Amino acid sequence: MKKLKVGILGATGMVGQNYVRLLENHPWFDVVYVAASANSAGVTYGEAVKGRWQMPTPIPAKVNNIKVENVDDIEKASKKCDFVFSAFEISDKNLVKEIEEKYAALGMPVVSNASANRWTDDVPMLIPEINSDHLNIISTQKMNHGWNKGFIVVKPNCSLQSYITPIYALNKAGFPVKKIMITTLQAVSGAGYPGVPSLDMIDNVVPFIGGEEEKTEEEPLKILGEIKNDKFVKNNDISISATCTRVPVIDGHLATVNILFKDKKPTKEQIISIWREFKSIPQDLKLPFAPINPIIYKEEDNRPQPRKDRDNDKGMAVTIGRLRDCKIFDFKFVALSHNTVRGAAGGGILNAELLVKKGYIK
Ligand code: NAP
Repeated sequence: MKKLKVGILGATGMVGQNYVRLLENHPWFDVVYVAASANSAGVTYGEAVKGRWQMPTPIPAKVNNIKVENVDDIEKASKKCDFVFSAFEISDKNLVKEIEEKYAALGMPVVSNASANRWTDDVPMLIPEINSDHLNIISTQKMNHGWNKGFIVVKPNCSLQSYITPIYALNKAGFPVKKIMITTLQAVSGAGYPGVPSLDMIDNVVPFIGGEEEKTEEEPLKILGEIKNDKFVKNNDISISATCTRVPVIDGHLATVNILFKDKKPTKEQIISIWREFKSIPQDLKLPFAPINPIIYKEEDNRPQPRKDRDNDKGMAVTIGRLRDCKIFDFKFVALSHNTVRGAAGGGILNAELLVKKGYIK
């Protein structure tokens, strides 16, 4: 297969750098275009990220010499890219929405990490293991805007990646969950670069991340919802209460999760076997970035741990442990996902692979 030409918007940031790293030897995608703010535009990628390259491997030689463009220069991108990953950050979310729409209007599929379009009525918020059927809304989206080739697909917030797939696996196995109580312990890379000031973070835990609890409580309801009359209808059978904290860990969002089932309550052994056996469309389609087992259950009492488990299966698997009875809910457990891989660039790449395999990106 001839590789598709890919652009990364926000390529100099924390998520953008992960895209550059993870796409280095991708079998289907070739990074030919990188863009960021006006501050970085006009120099090579290597010069733009000098002193702030955060990845554990060197900058891929090919991308190192590509000239960084301004995210605003949409015409230029449209001449070079088959589609773009969007990972740029502007505080005005309406502006992000507007820019992503302009890319789509010029014929480019946009696979986004930004929150700006997550609640747009005709934009799917995709986790390929859970709601690939939500891609059916794309034809409506294109019709609503009069777009021909372009469209927008988003991925959800990084905070919920660790527990939403395990909850979905239980729902799908016939044990719907009704109430979820979560506390997240989120890594500093989730705040981008340079992120949280070191004096706030070292020797400390910050018990507040602006906007994060709302996203953690609301986004799963769209992901687990359905399309009715060309619009998303939230799943109102589930209620979630979240506390989100920032901890001095570089990568890997941990969450403690308490769950109450709607009616039927499985045994502990049943839950573990449902998680271990869970596979879905990305595994069936053998997408290059799909983890072999999307959910890994660890028996050890002291797992999962960010440092030891975040890279499981290329950083794309969710790792769970400590499933036990809860005196208030039915069960409690600890879950972990790599926030900048599964929760950001890796998740975006998996979305794009699904879009290619399903014929949406050509
Ligand atoms: P970041 O490290 O702060 O990077 C921000 C990127 O946006 C940089 O490339 C920056 O370019 C660019 N940018 C800044 N101002 C801009 C402007 N006015 N016009 C165009 N580009 C501009 O942030 P990040 O953590 O990578 O996050 C990027 C996006 O992914 C955000 O929407 C975030 O919410 C989302 N996300 C992040 C994570 C995570 O774990 N970090 C997870 C899920 C989703 P310059 O270098 O030129 O300033």
